[in-house]
Amino acid sequence: MVCSVYREVRSLFYFNVSSNLEYPVCPSCRSNKRDIVFRLQEPYAVARCAECGLHYLYPRLSVGAMQQIYREPSYYEGGSSGYRDRSYTSQEPSLRATFRRLLVNLDNRGLSGGQLLEIGCGHGYLLDEARPFFDRRFGTDFSPEIAAIARHTGAEVFVGGIEQVPADLKVQCVIATQVIEHVYDPLSFVEQLVDHTLPGGHIVLATPDIGGVLRKIMGRRWPSFKTPEHVVYFDFRTLSSVMGRAGLDPIRRLPYPHAFPTGLLAAKFGITLPGWLARIQMWVPATTVAAYGTVRNA
Ligand SMILES: [Zn+2]
Repeated sequence: MVCSVYREVRSLFYFNVSSNLEYPVCPSCRSNKRDIVFRLQEPYAVARCAECGLHYLYPRLSVGAMQQIYREPSYYEGGSSGYRDRSYTSQEPSLRATFRRLLVNLDNRGLSGGQLLEIGCGHGYLLDEARPFFDRRFGTDFSPEIAAIARHTGAEVFVGGIEQVPADLKVQCVIATQVIEHVYDPLSFVEQLVDHTLPGGHIVLATPDIGGVLRKIMGRRWPSFKTPEHVVYFDFRTLSSVMGRAGLDPIRRLPYPHAFPTGLLAAKFGITLPGWLARIQMWVPATTVAAYGTVRNA
């Protein structure tokens, strides 16, 4: 049922795709000079900014058209690929394991405690795993249905993006994993995160690493080349550049090993595994770049 509704929405949407396209300047430095470095599914390509080196989707959907997709709960059942095995819910054990390891890494660096705000919390797996590490937890998600599920973790969840977080809510730690690659104006996004972080607090960002080994091995088949939703692609240099310009200092790299169901990785190479084998988790060390930055004391 959900799938058929999703197909309806998808076909309606794609019927109008060309009228919803825009041809952006660099989302980081606003330069209009670019090289096309990867051709993806028509009409999309990945451009590399000739000035600052940021990779970004070119063309991309208009922000309004993209937000309409995020409001559909079915987005979380397969993303734009439509593959059930890529859905958030089927990846739950792997995502939880990934987030537990991230939270332990943060705890080891003294970044836990106090209040946590997670932007783009989805079903709330990270918020749930974060119970032992933070006194109070807040989240945001664009879908009202998904936000309602995330509230079962006991966190307060706002429907929308960072704009929907009350102005007076300031926390010790803001986390956004696999979010900034969806953001049309990354600098303004990180500045908004800073506005919700207490002086001396931290902002933690994790995003697919276009400079990583996995991308180099897989070329255009890299799973994170997801159209139309991934609109910017970072490596540590371009990510820390945006964080620095938003006022974070210092900025440090975080290890971010990512667990995936083996079946999902095998499917990328056209191999179908039996169910028991497909569910085994495989840790991939070089697919995500993560960094944390400190909000300076006023
Ligand atoms: Zn640029």
